[in-house]
Amino acid sequence: MLTADFQVVDQRFTAVSYGNIHLEKLASGCRWAEGPAYLPAGRYLVWSDLPNDRTLRWDETDGSVSVFQQPSSFANGHTVDREGRLLCCEHLTRCISRIEIDGSRTVLASHYQGKRLNSPNDVVVKSDGSVWFTDPTYGIDSEYEGGVVASEIGARNVYRVDPAGGEVSVVADDFVMPNGLAFSPDESLLYIVDSGFTRVPDGPRHIRRFRLATGGRSLADGEVIATCDYGIFDGLRIDIHGNIWTSAGDGVRCYSPDGTLLGRIVVPEVVGNICFGGIRRNRLFICATASLYAIYLNTQGALRP
Ligand code: MG
Repeated sequence: MLTADFQVVDQRFTAVSYGNIHLEKLASGCRWAEGPAYLPAGRYLVWSDLPNDRTLRWDETDGSVSVFQQPSSFANGHTVDREGRLLCCEHLTRCISRIEIDGSRTVLASHYQGKRLNSPNDVVVKSDGSVWFTDPTYGIDSEYEGGVVASEIGARNVYRVDPAGGEVSVVADDFVMPNGLAFSPDESLLYIVDSGFTRVPDGPRHIRRFRLATGGRSLADGEVIATCDYGIFDGLRIDIHGNIWTSAGDGVRCYSPDGTLLGRIVVPEVVGNICFGGIRRNRLFICATASLYAIYLNTQGALRP
């Protein structure tokens, strides 16, 4: 044990945590907090208050909280691309969108082979500009998280948007509920959560590790490297050492690249998603049920937000 907030399972965890640092609560009043993304140029963080159909903004310069967008099309996951633009998973409008530098909105993906997507959940951008996202059915299964409608595609896939032509292709089609995803620092691996446990008794609640293939445009392998024994994994991010930081029912967990549990950050609410932020990328922002928390780590997020 380092502090009451950091629980050491493997001694390697002491190298990335601090004995004198505690969890800070930055904001509350959400119904279900999700989708954090830190925008370094503006020094602010946006996150989703999903059932309230709004996106919130926490300003690092003065700690103030404001409404970034409402309605938000029941936005879920966010990320920031290499040009500093915000990408958004929209449940209600069933698409991946991007806010351009001039404030206009561009839809990057809304259909696959002529059929509408289900409800994109989380998104990452590779250094080649390709956009990778998961498409479970959480946003079309209930009015609470979007709007009830039948799936047109009839599958819950992981997709890639080509940076040149914008073509949407399937990169994985054997998930029950694909959820959070993140590349290893060298982009040779992609980790993807399956949270199918929320829909299927004894369904998957694990992290799979894929190898990038075909010049980084497709996925191979996909073995399970970590299974959650308390709640589910949802969002995940990777630090510069390749460690996997992920949400779980008992807080934030940190796994080594091979899937060994190194430690936990104890959070008083169920965690949905996390991201690295701060201009040094050494602060972990934590969306947990009604609240936004943050804690400093002795590591940094891999370059991609
Ligand atoms: Mg998610």
